[in-house]
Amino acid sequence: MLGLVTHPSYDIPLQDGHQFPATKFSRLIAILARDGVLDRFDQHQPEPAARDDLATVHCPDYIDTVAEGTLSVSALRILGLPWSEVLRNRSFLAPNGTLATARLALANGLACHAAGGTHHAHYDYGAGYCVFNDLVYTARRLVDEGAAGEVLILDCDVHQGDGTARMLQGDDRIFTCSLHCRTNYPARRAMSDLDVEIDKGTGDTGYLAVLADTLSALTALRRRPDLVLYDAGVDVHNDDRLGQLSLSHFGLRARDEMVIRHFRDRGSAVATVIGGGYGTDINEVAHRHSIVFRAALAVATG
Ligand SMILES: [Zn+2]
Repeated sequence: MLGLVTHPSYDIPLQDGHQFPATKFSRLIAILARDGVLDRFDQHQPEPAARDDLATVHCPDYIDTVAEGTLSVSALRILGLPWSEVLRNRSFLAPNGTLATARLALANGLACHAAGGTHHAHYDYGAGYCVFNDLVYTARRLVDEGAAGEVLILDCDVHQGDGTARMLQGDDRIFTCSLHCRTNYPARRAMSDLDVEIDKGTGDTGYLAVLADTLSALTALRRRPDLVLYDAGVDVHNDDRLGQLSLSHFGLRARDEMVIRHFRDRGSAVATVIGGGYGTDINEVAHRHSIVFRAALAVATG
């Protein structure tokens, strides 16, 4: 059975009208349960990450300000979320959720996290709704432990994985690749090992062609990562409030299956995280996030 990592405390308490769809995490699990998808996974819950473990990738002072609720007004503005104990708690849980998912993937080939992909978090500050960088934390822990020799972070969220790229600059055990919309947040870009910029308004056909080319390029560049951390952000969808690409539900499903199948066929373990997805209809957003779980099952059983 494929592993699925989730936690009942992943939702973020926010005021109505906030741009971030606060309850999408619990809504995603409800949709997976309703559709008979959840039962086909083996479920796991993470423990909160220890301060010292997070401090292998984040500034200890920054971790303390998150833990103590002493982030400055400007730090909170850049983060885009108000501090609360619930936010603090879920911020320590989610990185270990991605780590647990990656460990399950290394053991069984493929596993999914019902959160994660906080790729705008930097070494000493959070940004764009991202407190700690679960992708960097997970990749670094696993290569440091020797559980993985080489990790690829493939970021298909519509926004560039700038925090990931910057935090991993110079680490040649971890390869960062970001496919994102050319004209979107963040204004100041970082340099991933491979950045692929896609024009605003690109739909399914154009997007999937670029993705196929990128996967071929990755094969040529890095022959076989032990582990792929796949950020399946759904803000590439046509109806997303923040994205500027125009993928349909079919396009999302094809994207996720293409990525997972490509790496599983080559013997790499794949751990998926949900990444970004925005809209006023939380059920719609959560449904889009459910696609990667369906794609994972399809690849694993097909
Ligand atoms: Zn995004």
